[in-house]
Amino acid sequence: MTTVGPDGHWTAQAACGAGKVAPDTLFVEGAAQRDARSVCQSCVVRLECLADALDSGADFGVWGGMTERERRALRRRRPEVESWRAELVGVEPAGVLQALAR
Ligand code: SF4
Repeated sequence: MTTVGPDGHWTAQAACGAGKVAPDTLFVEGAAQRDARSVCQSCVVRLECLADALDSGADFGVWGGMTERERRALRRRRPEVESWRAELVGVEPAGVLQALAR
């Protein structure tokens, strides 16, 4: 299932969107990102966010509940993945866990 807002894009449902958190909350550096990612724990569009960040190569900040370092490590572990959206969005939870754990 893909979660979208009235405008048809997942960002409308973001737990960090539209003034819900301070703009720089997710763009801290280093170890502070581990605390910052708590914002993502209840986010209903976490997988969409993570997939877009991985597919677009977003290098800075927390996206989809993962730090920069975690996303880099994931991309290194799974260099064969051409579409993280296909790997993560609309996939059964067990499949998501497998995709992230490989
Ligand atoms: S997963 Fe985190 S960074 Fe992504 S939209 Fe949700 S709260 Fe924002």
